[in-house]
Amino acid sequence: MDIWVLLLLVGGALFYFFVMYSRPQDKEWEKLPTLEKYLAANLDCRVDDPELAKCRHCGSEKIVFQTLSGVPSDPRFKHTCVSCKKVLYRGKSLMS
Ligand SMILES: [Zn+2]
Repeated sequence: MDIWVLLLLVGGALFYFFVMYSRPQDKEWEKLPTLEKYLAANLDCRVDDPELAKCRHCGSEKIVFQTLSGVPSDPRFKHTCVSCKKVLYRGKSLMS
């Protein structure tokens, strides 16, 4: 096997392991509630759209989601309040 192909494979595996599924990040993510649990714990955060919620810290409805690692193919999402920048709940891509 060509050494460069091997290096590429090892590099890819390492990248996958450390960036995509780095354990500390994954643990932090696991600690976040799902939308379902978030809404169950914060009844006044419910909005008309069942897929959305309000911020429990400041009441803002401006919530953005981004992938946990910043890599677009990462199926793990975190939902963050635009106003107070607090991470509210987690979600998973429907693609995964
Ligand atoms: Zn907020």
